[in-house]
Amino acid sequence: MINQPPLLSVAEAQARILARFTPLPTETLPLAVADGRVLAAPAIASDDHPPFNNSSMDGYAVRVADLDSFPGVLPVSGDIPAGSGLPDPLPPGTAMRIMTGAPVPVGADAVVPVEDTDDTATRLGGPLPAQITLKQPITPGACIRQRGHDMRAGQRVLTPGVVLGPAQMGVLAALGQAEVLAHRQPRVALFSTGNELRSAPAPLGPGQIRDVNRYTLAAAIRRYGGVVHDLGLVRDEVEAVQAALADACALGVDVIVSSAGVSVGAYDVVKTALETEGALEFWRVQMRPGKPLAFGRVRAIPFFGLPGNPVSALLTFEVFVRPALLKLGGRARWDKPAHTAVMLEPLESDGRESYLRAVVTWQNGHYTAHSAGDQGSAMLASLVRANALLIVPAEVTHVAVGETLPFWWLYEPTV
Ligand code: AMP
Ligand code: MG
Repeated sequence: MINQPPLLSVAEAQARILARFTPLPTETLPLAVADGRVLAAPAIASDDHPPFNNSSMDGYAVRVADLDSFPGVLPVSGDIPAGSGLPDPLPPGTAMRIMTGAPVPVGADAVVPVEDTDDTATRLGGPLPAQITLKQPITPGACIRQRGHDMRAGQRVLTPGVVLGPAQMGVLAALGQAEVLAHRQPRVALFSTGNELRSAPAPLGPGQIRDVNRYTLAAAIRRYGGVVHDLGLVRDEVEAVQAALADACALGVDVIVSSAGVSVGAYDVVKTALETEGALEFWRVQMRPGKPLAFGRVRAIPFFGLPGNPVSALLTFEVFVRPALLKLGGRARWDKPAHTAVMLEPLESDGRESYLRAVVTWQNGHYTAHSAGDQGSAMLASLVRANALLIVPAEVTHVAVGETLPFWWLYEPTV
């Protein structure tokens, strides 16, 4: 007789899991290889950005007070390309040609774009004109990017826990930060259990199916910043699972994830192996899909035994493993933002907190949702049709057309 502990609510299971995770230690990396990594210390601007007053246009640097009527004419006293060091001060009563990004000479208080002058030669690579006609009145400060206007020395520009995406890389590059302090990436051992599983290109024998979970779960682990250690396919034998767990420990991983063999079938040996190699903390959650979810540890390494059905495996990963990996990886936030959609069709649920594959679209000023198709926990086609997961709260058994439900975007690029 199998001792069946009470079902945990999703929130309780999440809380118990998250309590087991603390952010990984940090390491210093060259900026060039740090994208996708999680910043471990605030980024403080070491200098002003931009570092000097510079022109935002190709044009002429002038002193506004030198002109009292328009069109006005000034002799051209010099030429300032970008990257040519500090220019001489602007002689009174003259203009200097200046290119975008070049330092504004001392004495100049505006740049007049070349388009607002009679200079038609510069854009064709022509020589420096002897004088320039300025067609219209000029505002002091025009077309000058002031030193420190973007970021000031000493200013905190990035907070710890942010992921270094393209924008953050740009800020760190602009500030001349050659290295960054990032959290170490979570290392995750992954294996699939099941005697029926084969991976391509091995042909399928009678009664065999393709291993899906190692591919979906590896992709999900990497998406959330983890590094996968693939331990392959493991047979439904206690010794085989024990050996895989021992291999994972020997690799020194931070987390172990397996799929299948955690239900109440005759060959569901994962919990038994876990209890001999470590400890099982809980294994049933009031969630659909995915009731059997084993969580425990092998020595000190947290272990997730996800359900075998591919959709259950992936959705329990989203709900339980994802926040754990984000927290472990040093992210400032690990909760997934929920939005609200109006139902276009009725829904039935069994009272468990349910995650339904849905298509969400924006219509008439709000999100609307309909099912992405067969919600069976082995049905993969509706998973790729879906762009969202509708969350039907526990205890809710019927949702009518026009009622609203919370949803998550499935694979939001930023979380
Ligand atoms: P189990 O939890 O072992 O009873 O597996 C539940 C269902 O998921 C069974 O139909 C298995 O064949 C299937 N399954 C288990 N592991 C995988 C996998 N890695 N890829 C695809 N299907 C799987
Ligand atoms: Mg099985």
